Amino acid sequence: MPGGLLVNRRAADLNKKLMNGRPYSDYETWTDAIRAGGNDFKYILDWVSCFALAVNEENASFGRVVTAPTNGAAGVIPAVLHYFIIFCNGNQNEKIIQFMLTASEIGSIMKKGATISAAMGGCQAEIGVSSAMAAAALTEAMGGTQRQCLMAAEIAMEHHLGLTCDPIGGLVQIPCIERNTMGAIKAITASQLALQTAPDFAKVSLDAVIQTMWDTAKDMNNKYKETSDGGLAVNIPLSLSEC
Ligand code: SF4
Repeated sequence: MPGGLLVNRRAADLNKKLMNGRPYSDYETWTDAIRAGGNDFKYILDWVSCFALAVNEENASFGRVVTAPTNGAAGVIPAVLHYFIIFCNGNQNEKIIQFMLTASEIGSIMKKGATISAAMGGCQAEIGVSSAMAAAALTEAMGGTQRQCLMAAEIAMEHHLGLTCDPIGGLVQIPCIERNTMGAIKAITASQLALQTAPDFAKVSLDAVIQTMWDTAKDMNNKYKETSDGGLAVNIPLSLSEC
């Protein structure tokens, strides 16, 4: 990828490896070929990572992505949506529309109540929000109640609170690209937790976690707000590899 960090793209190779020679020629045959590989946990986990990596590698290579809620966090929602479409029998237009509308609404609530800007709130405002959007959307698509959707968004956001933004070299590559895989998996976990829980017993509301995210954003040192003045950005010399 461009920028000088010499970060390699991984999604295409991972796609090839996971396909294991199964042929495909378009989107439909691609999704069918993925399904044909089974539903082993590690296999699904690899695919969710692959979906997220692909989007953010495209973003880091000056390609076109759909901002959701930002470009740096644009891989989370498509990764979770593809998890739903491919591994949860979710290839139904109505369900996909419900997924997108729910994600949009949660993003809007978070933007109005806090921020979706890393420059204001660190990465909790980007990956955290995208994960919350995806968690609620997946819960809706899986047949959860409205309160379970809100609970899923709350859980996903709660476990991103305080996440800093410290991109190495100011490039949206490290930690950003992998971080989308984490946001996607947390969204799926949050959705499952909400689907298996009665919201009546929740101790933390979505409103409370949004307020907490905003309070944390205001307290956060500017070094961790997209300035590349702290964290990984100063601890990883540009001439060294990330690992
Ligand atoms: S670390 Fe910063 S630039 Fe990277 S995804 Fe998070 S908010 Fe965006």
